[in-house]
Amino acid sequence: MIPQQPNVRVRILGIQWTRVCREMKPPPFKYIAAGSIEDATSALADNGGDAKVLAGGQSLVPMLNFRLLAPAVLVDINRVPGLDVVEENADGLAVGALARHHQLQTSPPVGARYPVLAAAIGHVGHLAIRNRGTIGGSLAHADPAAELPLIARLLDAEIVVIGAAGPRIIAARDFFLGAHTTALEADEIITRIDLPALPPGTGWGFEEVTRRAGDFALVAVAATVSMADGQVTQARIALAGVGESPARASAAESVLSGQALEDDAIDAASQSARDAVRPSTDLHASADYRRHLVGVLTGRVLNAAWRRTVREAS
Ligand SMILES: Cc1cc2nc3c(=O)[nH]c(=O)nc-3n(C[C@H](O)[C@H](O)[C@H](O)COP(=O)(O)OP(=O)(O)OC[C@H]3O[C@@H](n4cnc5c(N)ncnc54)[C@H](O)[C@@H]3O)c2cc1C
Repeated sequence: MIPQQPNVRVRILGIQWTRVCREMKPPPFKYIAAGSIEDATSALADNGGDAKVLAGGQSLVPMLNFRLLAPAVLVDINRVPGLDVVEENADGLAVGALARHHQLQTSPPVGARYPVLAAAIGHVGHLAIRNRGTIGGSLAHADPAAELPLIARLLDAEIVVIGAAGPRIIAARDFFLGAHTTALEADEIITRIDLPALPPGTGWGFEEVTRRAGDFALVAVAATVSMADGQVTQARIALAGVGESPARASAAESVLSGQALEDDAIDAASQSARDAVRPSTDLHASADYRRHLVGVLTGRVLNAAWRRTVREAS
């Protein structure tokens, strides 16, 4: 008797793929375990566009198994020393590309200085995925509904990459070019993500709506708000799930600038965010529902940020 095979459901390219386990075998590939960044970049350069970096494997391996990708070479960077270091410095936080989601979520400097990052990571899949998945992999994978690209946009992260031509720094706003498309060249790897320091007493909020716990977000919204003398000095609002890449709600941010953070200002900013988005309809939600969620969630994250700002300042 043939044993029953469980169905496996994974979301890739915005689609929930369901297949029977026995079909899930990757195409053949050559495996290279890089011992250094130089090993990794030269293996990528030697194989043109036909090699992929393997980090946590939580997105890449399902894509191989579903035969959505068939690279000739996988360059495993898990043995490269120092790539998972998380370090505070005068400018903020330097996060190694191989830092695992769970490592970051439970890291004391992240909890103390970027609680919005820790909160967002709590919504990434399930613990088993957070134990393996890495921040570099999540940014490079660039899913339009993923939490870490959203937080990179929110916090104006700088993404440090190295390729055959040497290192360069890419601002998060220039990094995400579209769904699963980034500014990375084929021979480049992400080595570090720099998060600039936030002003003291900055409040924050993070909210998302999913069909089921652990799913990718239908819509996710994150905000930080800094205040002085009762007025907003800087508001940042970032959205995911409403376009090909995470985006800042810049018109809504402008609405808040110089205002007291009261109900009227929050309502005006929420409406502005909702009016500015042009989401599409897919299997999971209609464009109208996503637009509605942007308004509701923006209101919630701004209220949460305001409460936290007041608490910090008192
Ligand atoms: C069931 C399930 C549920 C999930 N739910 C969520 C969710 O709710 N939210 C969410 O955000 N994610 C979710 N994920 C994805 C998860 O967060 C992955 O960990 C992440 O997207 C990829 O990280 P990784 O380290 O596993 O990368 P990998 O899978 O190893 O690689 C992903 C891609 O990035 C490239 N890459 C990896 N590292 C680098 C690097 N340093 N430099 C250059 N390129 C690199 C790879 O070549 C590949 O193209 C889920 C995954 C699964 C299986």
